[in-house]
Amino acid sequence: WQRLKAGLSRTSSSIGSGIAGIFTRRKLDDTTLEELEDILIQADLGVAMATRVTEAVGKGRYDKSIEPEEVKAILAREIAAVLESVARPLAIDTAKKPFVILMVGVNGSGKTTTIGKLAQKFRAEGRSVMLAAGDTFRAAAIEQLSVWGERTGARVIRREQGADAAGLAFDALKEAQESATDVLLIDTAGRLQNKAGLMAELEKIIRVVRKRDESAPHAVLLVLDATTGQNAISQVDIFGQMAGVTGLVMTKLDGTARGGILVAIADKFGLPVHFIGVGEGVDDLEPFAATDFARAVAG
Ligand code: GDP
Repeated sequence: WQRLKAGLSRTSSSIGSGIAGIFTRRKLDDTTLEELEDILIQADLGVAMATRVTEAVGKGRYDKSIEPEEVKAILAREIAAVLESVARPLAIDTAKKPFVILMVGVNGSGKTTTIGKLAQKFRAEGRSVMLAAGDTFRAAAIEQLSVWGERTGARVIRREQGADAAGLAFDALKEAQESATDVLLIDTAGRLQNKAGLMAELEKIIRVVRKRDESAPHAVLLVLDATTGQNAISQVDIFGQMAGVTGLVMTKLDGTARGGILVAIADKFGLPVHFIGVGEGVDDLEPFAATDFARAVAG
């Protein structure tokens, strides 16, 4: 919570000082409400959300004065309402052996690190974990995943750089089934520069994995970097079409995050948000908590 609060401090202090600047010694009217809406849009909350908050603030108070703290409380309430509908733990169906999780997202979003953190979490819960180094495009990604495997006691299935990712995923699932492994996490490439190639690859991985288990993958998690702001919206769009995303993880909420974007995404897509990343360490993954997040954004 401390790191989340610190990470979102830039967002919350710009919203907070903006609200104080607007409503101190001024009445609530069209001008001040419009200024409020602008601040919320600038904080990446999205137009729909900004409009809704502004309407909630304005309701019944027109031409009256309002305390900035009250505006912030309304904002926090509206944000929490949106986030509560998407805050959902990742449920592992233990009847699936393995429960297959496909991890997608652009390079640098924190995908490999999140796989390591998830492996750690599942291991701590007493589950056996296998990792498939499916980002075969980058040697560094294969190496990085192997390190996470060693660190967390998860077996890593890897091939040389440039190998067919779908073939690797197929083999990994076969081995995980044969060894009755509880969870299989499949890493994937994130080259948005080559959208058609990436889409073909993700589709092939899914198709091939279904040959061994027609219900797989059981979760498709999109990893989003909170510092990229509005870009995250198009990533949800693109990966949603490519891979049928079932849930989100937002990383780097400890840095100079633009946390408002998560609210806009929740509002626009309604996809479950499972976890947030609050650091580079193996334990820096938290279940997503709507109220905490709303408080951290609204200040
Ligand atoms: P990938 O290319 O998507 O696999 O991304 P990586 O997992 O390699 O992560 C890219 C960089 O972001 C690395 O330096 C990670 O340590 C860092 N990173 C990942 N998650 C977080 C997080 O939650 N907070 C911070 N501060 N850094 C993170």
